[in-house]
Amino acid sequence: MAFGSLGLCDELLKTVAEQGYTKPSPIQAEAIPVVLSQRDVMAVAQTGTGKTAGFTLPMVQLLSGGSSPQALHVHALVITPTRELAAQVADSVQNYSRHMNIRSMAVFGGVRIEPQIAQLKAGVDVLIATPGRLIDLYNQQAINFDQLEILVLDEADRMLDLGFIDDILCIQKLLPNKRQTLMFSATFSTEIKSLANGMLNNPRLIEIPATNSTVDSVKQIIHPVDKTRKSEVLIHLIKKNKWHQVLVFSRTKKGADSLVLQLKDAGISADSIHANRTQHARTRTLEGFRNGNIAVLVATDIAARGIDVNQLPCVVNFDLPYLAEDYVHRIGRTGRAGTSGLAVSLFSEDESKQLQSIERLIGRQFEGDIIPGFAPSERIKADSTDDEEYGNFEADPKPQRRGQSQKRRSRGGNSSNRNRTPR
Ligand code: ADP
Ligand code: MG
Repeated sequence: MAFGSLGLCDELLKTVAEQGYTKPSPIQAEAIPVVLSQRDVMAVAQTGTGKTAGFTLPMVQLLSGGSSPQALHVHALVITPTRELAAQVADSVQNYSRHMNIRSMAVFGGVRIEPQIAQLKAGVDVLIATPGRLIDLYNQQAINFDQLEILVLDEADRMLDLGFIDDILCIQKLLPNKRQTLMFSATFSTEIKSLANGMLNNPRLIEIPATNSTVDSVKQIIHPVDKTRKSEVLIHLIKKNKWHQVLVFSRTKKGADSLVLQLKDAGISADSIHANRTQHARTRTLEGFRNGNIAVLVATDIAARGIDVNQLPCVVNFDLPYLAEDYVHRIGRTGRAGTSGLAVSLFSEDESKQLQSIERLIGRQFEGDIIPGFAPSERIKADSTDDEEYGNFEADPKPQRRGQSQKRRSRGGNSSNRNRTPR
């Protein structure tokens, strides 16, 4: 399958070639012709599979055939759950439409509304927006949707997770019924299905199975450690392996900030992004991380979702996520587009449940890789099979459910990882 066979115009074929894309990803190959046929689409594919180009390329092609937008009018609206994602999708739209006459802009909260109002006056082909700011702008009569032709909901699953359902339904009421609607999601839950039922008209369902292709190109390592020593372990790993661009996931904003302080104390350049930081600070931090001034970026799941720094060599789960799907999203930040990546998880005993649900989701079981000098002192609970295997607990020093014991039965696969730290 080549880009040339999808019905894209020459300008866009030129753009994808300039991007260095040699062939469409599976979601692009399926979605592009259907979007071009002006049908509604419900598309489900894992994070990192190229969904943005999957809707942007055909969307700008459809728009380029029409007239220029009139004052205040918007021809296509892309709604995203976070500011970072809005900014990123806007960059992609700008980039993919660079050989075409398409006006696009992003609007989101956390920055002054007046410049956005001023910029909207001329009208735009593609508006990328977060829900709250979009509603504000509409209420201030800065936007007119009468000529809206295309609505895209990007990361619809995340939108629901973040509680934007009412905003979305409110926005839907403001839009013309006769329009093309495209919904993109990494998961296809019951909630997504019912949202799709209410918003899409006879949609084509495109579901790219989670082949774990992202996951397969990522080397995953689990280090069992004491909860209280996680920062120390992370500092050790960063220094030992000379990691220079590592994305660290923290479950909480407070945890992220305190980790940043500890990293800085250890002489490592670090910063955080999460919802409590201003838009300006987040943009500056991301820029610093991209250009190498910040070696370690500590992020919460919500803030990190959609951060598109190409080919991150390494991500670290400082805490395991509550939702197993988030683990897949997190490690999807590394090893993209055919490069191999490394995902390191610091696992403490209290996270056994999370680890189990991750193992269930991705269909493999991990063996812990103990870092010399950082073996967990708490005993990580043995499962029942291990109980039998180890016989008398007291006689056998520290039986580990996931860990260092040489007696640990092999679950196949990555046992050679044991007692090795990642490069
Ligand atoms: P998603 O929205 O599915 O999470 P993105 O649209 O953010 O994924 O794309 C992920 C990465 O893949 C981006 O860095 C993008 O430049 C790259 N990419 C997209 N399409 C292709 C392609 N056809 N070939 C190679 N890389 C691609
Ligand atoms: Mg996306």
